[in-house]
Parts: sequence; C-alpha cells; structure tokens
Amino acid sequence: MGTSDIGLIGLAVMGENLVVNMENHGFTVSVFNRTTQKVTDFTEGRGKGKKIIPAYSLEELVSQLKSPRKVMLMVKAGAPVDSYIEALIPLLEPGDIIIDGGNSHFPDTIRRTAYVESKDLLYIGCGVSGGEEGALHGPSMMPGGSPKAWESVKPIFQAIAAKVDGVPCCEWIGENGAGHFVKMVHNGIEYGDMQLICEAYQIMRDYLNMTAEEMQEVFGRWQTEELDSYLIEITRDILKVKDTDGAPILDKILDTAGQKGTGKWTGIAALDEGVPLTLIAEAVFSRCLSAAKEERVHASRILTGPAVVFEDDREAFLEDLKAALYASKIVSYAQGYSLMKAAAQAYGWNLNYGEIAMIWRGGCIIRSVFLENIKEAYDRNPALENLMLDDYFRQVMTNSQQGWRYICASALLNGIPAPAMTSALSYYDGYRCDRLPANLLQAQRDYFGAHTYERTDRPRGEFFHTNWTGEG
Ligand code: NAP
Repeated sequence: MGTSDIGLIGLAVMGENLVVNMENHGFTVSVFNRTTQKVTDFTEGRGKGKKIIPAYSLEELVSQLKSPRKVMLMVKAGAPVDSYIEALIPLLEPGDIIIDGGNSHFPDTIRRTAYVESKDLLYIGCGVSGGEEGALHGPSMMPGGSPKAWESVKPIFQAIAAKVDGVPCCEWIGENGAGHFVKMVHNGIEYGDMQLICEAYQIMRDYLNMTAEEMQEVFGRWQTEELDSYLIEITRDILKVKDTDGAPILDKILDTAGQKGTGKWTGIAALDEGVPLTLIAEAVFSRCLSAAKEERVHASRILTGPAVVFEDDREAFLEDLKAALYASKIVSYAQGYSLMKAAAQAYGWNLNYGEIAMIWRGGCIIRSVFLENIKEAYDRNPALENLMLDDYFRQVMTNSQQGWRYICASALLNGIPAPAMTSALSYYDGYRCDRLPANLLQAQRDYFGAHTYERTDRPRGEFFHTNWTGEG
C-alpha cells in the first residue's frame, strides 16, 4: 500500500495550484499528467523538496495511494474525464474514490456517479471556484456525488478550502450531480453580478458623463456599504489603472466578451425546470450582443435613439443607482436560489441553502457580505419560498424600489441599455402580481388550438373550452 493521501491528475493551472495547496496543509500528493514532461517539470521545479510524488503512469499513481484511494481529476471537462474514469476503474478497488474537480456539466456527473458506483467505486463531482488564486490559497468547493465518499475526502477538502471566520467554504452539497449543479448556478450568478456592475458603470459613464476617477470613488464608497463584495472591489481597482499615456486602460479595452458555457448551462437548466432566471439569461445574452461588435458599430450609424441629457442631482441619482444595483442583485440571487430549489425537487437533492451561501462567502468571485444576509434568511426559514419574501430582503426591496424604478426609467428614456436591472424589476413586478395577463394567453391558446383553460370561478383541475367564433 502507498503513502500518498491523494493522487491528482492534470497539472495545468488549477491542478498544480491545488496540489501545492494540499501539500501546504500537510498532505502527501501523488501527481500524474497526460504529457508526462509536466510531471517532471512540476516535481523538479515548483514542487521540489515537497511531499509531491511524481507518477509516470496511472498504475504507478494508484500504487502510491493510501486506501481508500482518492484520485482527483483536474483535467479539461468532457471526454478526458470519461477516458480517465474508464482507465482508472480496473486499477482501483471497491470503496476507492474518483473525484472530478473540473467544470463538468451536472448531467455528466449524474451519469458518471451511477456508472462508477456500478463498479463498486465511489464518485465525487466537485465544483471548485476561485481560479488559480483560489486553488492555491483556498477555493470555494462544492462537492457532491456518492455520500459514502465524503468522510474520506472531507479532511483534505475542508483543510484546503477558503475559510471565513474559521468556517471552511466547503460542505457536502448532495448526491450525484448536486455539487456541479450548485457550482453551475454559482457561475451563472457570477455572470449576473458582473453584468449589473457593468450596467451601473455604463449609466455613470454614458448618462452621467463621469470620469474614471469619479466612478472609482463611487465604487470605493459602495465597497464600504451593503454592496461590499470582491467584484465591486476589483471594479474600483480597475478604474484606477492608467495606460502608459495616462488614460484609463479600461477605455482602451475592446467591448466584446465571450461566454464559456456555464452561464449558458444555467439558462438552459432554468428553461428545463421552468424557472424564470431572467437576470442571468440577460447577462449571458448581453455577452452575446457584446460579441457582435462589427454589427453593433454598423447599427450605431443607422439606428437612432434619444438625445442623452442628464439634468438631475448627481449624488441623489447615484444613491438611486446603488439601490437599483442592490435590489437587482437580490432578484438575481432569488432567481438562482429558486432554480436550485426546483432542481433539488427534480433530482431528489436535499440542498442546504444557507450552507450554500456560506460556501460562497470566501474563495470565489461572488464572495460578498450580502451572502451573510442570505444565510440568515434561510436560518430564519429553511423552507423560504423566495428570497424576496424574507423580512430583511422584503424591506430592502421596499426601500429600494423607488430609486430602482427611477434608474430603470432613466436608462430606458435615455437609450442606455440596462437589460439586467430592467428585467429584474419586471420580474419583481411580475412576481408580486396576483393577476397576470395569462388569462388572455390561455384564451388565445384555446382559440387557435382548443387547448382548454381553467376558470377563476371553478376548482383548479377542471378544464373548459369555448367555441370562440361561434362557428361549426
Ligand atoms: P484545462 O486547460 O481545462 O485542462 C488542461 C489539463 O487537461 C491538462 O492537464 C491536460 O493535459 C489535460 N487534458 C486535456 N485534454 C486531455 C485529454 N484528451 N486527455 C487527457 N488529458 C487531457 O486546465 P485548468 O484550467 O487547470 O482547468 C482544469 C479544470 O478545472 C477544467 O475542468 C476547468 O474548467 C476547471 N476550472 C478551471 C478554472 C480556471 O480558472 N482555470 C477555475 C475553475 C474550474 P496535457 O498537459 O497533457 O495537455
């Protein structure tokens, strides 16, 4: 039997840093990589003199591990994960654990958990957030899969995870694909948070005509208040940085963004579950629109908009903008949590929503003080139907809405796009509306397709059809 606590396959950015993090916490780690030169480079370079053991084949890697063996994959998501699982199965013994720490799509993790368990082995699909920095100094980790695997993996994962107030940002999420699902929603929320900040920036830049210095001061102020978060902090810092000619470097960055897939997956999952996840979807679509740079430049010369005139009190407007950003952010998290709730029901996961907020408090891009409020909301009521119905958040929405409406209206009237803020407000108004126009929709469906409808004056479950044209 071997002496290594864990084996890690995949010595790219994430893998290498996780290994160093594990070793820094006293664990002995065996390492393997498809391109084996990287094993040598790493163990002879950055890993030299540490309890990092090179392996040049999977057989060698497995032979170096303590039982139950834990093999963690940090490789490109997709087919490479399946290939490694296939190759590892014959080398492992019952009760051994395969861990996938990459950004795998949760249906793959559901499938892989069942497959690996059918071979008498255990499986963990773990969302790891925080990029290179997080991997080295403490990521936020969302493990799910075979519950029996957790006790063996927990000491390593909780040791290397970020800590907030001494609490590790890593807890068991749930069975099979639950960890990767929650990581996916986390990434979607990250898209939403970033988009909201970008909209606030565009409103300041294009409507208020503010300079980078002025905007930096505003984000710096927001950073000390309820919006205190990593993303606001880095936005403040980005606005400070000047190019060699003294101009803000931000002004020289091309306004096109890509999207790698997790935001899209979150949107697709929401459509699959029938959950309105409008803000995150708008954030993904905004990136798509940004990517169509040439088309936009062409359209900007053809399509007209209103003249942009700002004649208000700037300070008061900025207070409203902060309120709009905060209220929209609450909507985004409310929608993300509603999606997790629906998926938990669909997939049989027993998700602990307050704990999920705690896991996101450190080590990841969406870390913020706001997550404490979410934790407290679920402490008050673990069965909370929607985050906005919690007393604290309800109060914030009440206090914010006048400013929020004013910002959305100003953006619309002045032709400044604010899709996330405005769609969040529409969701808020739709959610609190006891009578939506879907009665007309049902009538239309019944008219053209005899789809039937239910009536307000009859019990639910009774269906009616009207001969709308009086013909036939
Ligand atoms: P990556 O670029 O996604 O993957 C590179 C690693 O995968 C290398 O070890 C590479 O081996 C291996 N690999 C690629 N194709 C392979 C194949 N067909 N067969 C065997 N091995 C193959 O690395 P990364 O950025 O460190 O990310 C690792 C995982 O973590 C990914 O799932 C990623 O999505 C996720 N993740 C990344 C970040 C981030 O900030 N980078 C953050 C969170 C999660 P070779 O050296 O032989 O090419």
